[in-house]
Amino acid sequence: MSQERRTEISELGEFGFIRELTQGRPKSIDTVQSVGDDCAVLRPTKEHIVVTTDYLLEGIHFDLSYTPLRHLGYKSVVVNLSDVYAMNAIPKHITVSIAVSNRFSVEAIKEIYEGIYLACDKYNVDLVGGDTTSSTSGLLISVTAIGEASPSDIVYRHGAKQGDLVCVTGSLGSAFLGLQILIREKQVFLSDPNMKPEISEKNSYLIQRILKPEAKRGLIEFFASNQIKPTSMIDISDGLSSELMHICTRSDVGVVIEEANLPFDEQAYTQAMEFSYDPTTVALSGGEDYEMLFTISPEHHDLIMNYDDIRIIGEIKSKEEGQKLLTRSGNLYDLKAQGWVSF
Ligand code: ADP
Ligand code: MG
Repeated sequence: MSQERRTEISELGEFGFIRELTQGRPKSIDTVQSVGDDCAVLRPTKEHIVVTTDYLLEGIHFDLSYTPLRHLGYKSVVVNLSDVYAMNAIPKHITVSIAVSNRFSVEAIKEIYEGIYLACDKYNVDLVGGDTTSSTSGLLISVTAIGEASPSDIVYRHGAKQGDLVCVTGSLGSAFLGLQILIREKQVFLSDPNMKPEISEKNSYLIQRILKPEAKRGLIEFFASNQIKPTSMIDISDGLSSELMHICTRSDVGVVIEEANLPFDEQAYTQAMEFSYDPTTVALSGGEDYEMLFTISPEHHDLIMNYDDIRIIGEIKSKEEGQKLLTRSGNLYDLKAQGWVSF
């Protein structure tokens, strides 16, 4: 928060403040009425509407000592869009509610909205409303995303079938490692404010993964253009193991994941080594990657192999076979929500 001018929110008043945050934005043809009335009015183009909402609380979900406000705004939108994509739906609208203490200036909150609008422009969604209130302590942001889909396109967590391929996009564990770097640098800074944070080319990618994640729009477009549909899908916010368990429980199936197939990028591997973390545990339990986990019929094997970002990591089994990790050395372990039980 290093802006030169500091305008108090009280100088503008609640309505002036909301106007300052929301004026001058274009609206799409799917938005009949945006900010400015008692409700937004939306024009759906598909039969089903999907709705999701997430809270971000200062001190619980983010730490402002290493989170730029713009990134915070961007991420608060992206994590919701990720949930919409995880239904194989297209996000169209968001609302944003904030609770702000007088510690924050108008300029600071406008920075958050710059990030929010950057995400809106990138993912083609309209901000159509919200709520604004004061807070006695920290900052709170709640975003609701609204999307659409044809009923037959919606993918739930409960459709995985024995024999389906288990796939993930991108790479796993990077956001978790990025967060560990930020936490470490904060500790270093707190113990000696003259120390320069060790954030370099070497780990910038990992830090970007935690501070400015992206949602998997391209994947959903790939499914649509190839007329294929996963049998189940979930976005990876809590960690692969935990999301796999959701799919298995809801679909009444088991799974085997192969350690050798877990996607891990090079920076993440190097960083895990530096922290003396087991890369597999990080890939299974590190959260906040916002990659997609899905299951799909093996008949689509060749098609999905054509898509660079997708990795097949295992297979859906019968419920009786449980939820297992097949290690590189050929042993089968129970998958646990927090990593896996070894030796
Ligand atoms: P009401 O009293 O009817 O809830 P408000 O005065 O809270 O209305 O809000 C006025 C308009 O501004 C509404 O369209 C609302 O959706 C919008 N709005 C309020 N706060 C925000 C915000 N933080 N971001 C975006 N839109 C907002
Ligand atoms: Mg209101």
